[in-house]
Amino acid sequence: MQYYSILDHSHKVSFKQAIINGLAPNFGLYFPEEIPRFSERFYEQLPDMKLPEVAQHVLRPYVEEDIPDTVLKDICEDVFNFEIPLVEVEENIFALELFHGPTLAFKDIGARFLARSLQYLSTENNIRVLVATSGDTGSAVANGFLGVKGTDVVVLYPKGKVSELQRKQFTTLGQNIIPIAIEGTFDDCQRLVKQAFADAELKAAQSLTSANSINIARWIPQSVYYYWALAQAQKLAPGQDINIAVPSGNLGNITSGILAKATGLKIKQFIAVSNRNDVVPQYIASGKYEPITTIQTIANAMDVGDPNNFPRFLELHQHNYDLLKDQMAGASYNDEEIRDLIRSCKAANNYLLDPHGATGYGALRDGAAGAGIGIFLETAHPGKFVEEVEATLGEKITLPAKLQEFAKRTINTHELPADFGAFKNFLETH
Ligand SMILES: *Cc1c(COP(=O)(O)O)cnc(C)c1O
Repeated sequence: MQYYSILDHSHKVSFKQAIINGLAPNFGLYFPEEIPRFSERFYEQLPDMKLPEVAQHVLRPYVEEDIPDTVLKDICEDVFNFEIPLVEVEENIFALELFHGPTLAFKDIGARFLARSLQYLSTENNIRVLVATSGDTGSAVANGFLGVKGTDVVVLYPKGKVSELQRKQFTTLGQNIIPIAIEGTFDDCQRLVKQAFADAELKAAQSLTSANSINIARWIPQSVYYYWALAQAQKLAPGQDINIAVPSGNLGNITSGILAKATGLKIKQFIAVSNRNDVVPQYIASGKYEPITTIQTIANAMDVGDPNNFPRFLELHQHNYDLLKDQMAGASYNDEEIRDLIRSCKAANNYLLDPHGATGYGALRDGAAGAGIGIFLETAHPGKFVEEVEATLGEKITLPAKLQEFAKRTINTHELPADFGAFKNFLETH
């Protein structure tokens, strides 16, 4: 499989090169040259397969020139070594719980696949991973790469805009993990990372790669759990049409799902759900894409005003708005509505939502999808947002052991202004 740049279809590279480059020239995103189609037989067998087997089968065509099948098998067994259950929340509404990994958010999957693929593929020693985070990416990537030889990870996050427990998951690790608090927004962090990749001097001196969801080794493996969701749905709700609501920020997660659908997976409709940063639901409604300055919300991992996977979102629909509108719905929720959803779902179903998953639940409950069952992606464990969730419910919640462990540690971070000169200098001297 070759990967082309969405900005220039004649620029094509291998899987390996696409991972290492992160981005194509002029900030182009890589995209698979040919979307695989899986056999009917695979879909029939799906409900009886194990998760790592599904992963291996789905990912093989994307990586086979660069990762031999025996290595891919090991990587999949290692990455997909925790459960991803589909849980019935109320009649016709199911949660795909993606939070059973080491940092309790769905990003563990892509981040771990990226770290293990890079470790296998990289011939160079000192690979430096740059990652901008609004919370969960930083922890997933830092923990995915922690102790991986020949790599270090520079994590940029907006100062004061990431919860303490989230910060503790990437500012307390030491070893090869270098956190920097940026005096600005998440968009500033993203801009600094992009500028670093565009800087010829830095590029010549260091081998930099990106771990944001733009990297295909984070993006493509996420499609695996959509197959897994359908495999489970076939048992829990046989014969029903399936709609999937995805709490969205940078659109990495939902575009992985749309990619799965393009391979033949029978998903009826996707619902792109946002918080007040509703540029994508607005686009779906109107056909106009109008990026905004990021608005801070309680679902902060979705605080994105100009989603960086938007070009893939368009590419997956052949840049045809009518086609897109046919297959997608949108919905958005402000902070008060999110709090109401957390309270009402707890009261009605005794199911605890996190602020991100709550938006997906809301979209299904409010009927954003058509007939059939609805699955929303529960993208993080509510315990990651303990202050918010406890204040919303007016009661204490129990933190999972993994989080209690992080909570005890001490934060240790660098700080920089949102200025590329300062960031470049930091990279050159660390
Ligand atoms: C990152 C994240 C999102 C948004 O996912 P995208 O791939 O950026 O659209 C939603 N919820 C949680 C908990 C996240 O960490």
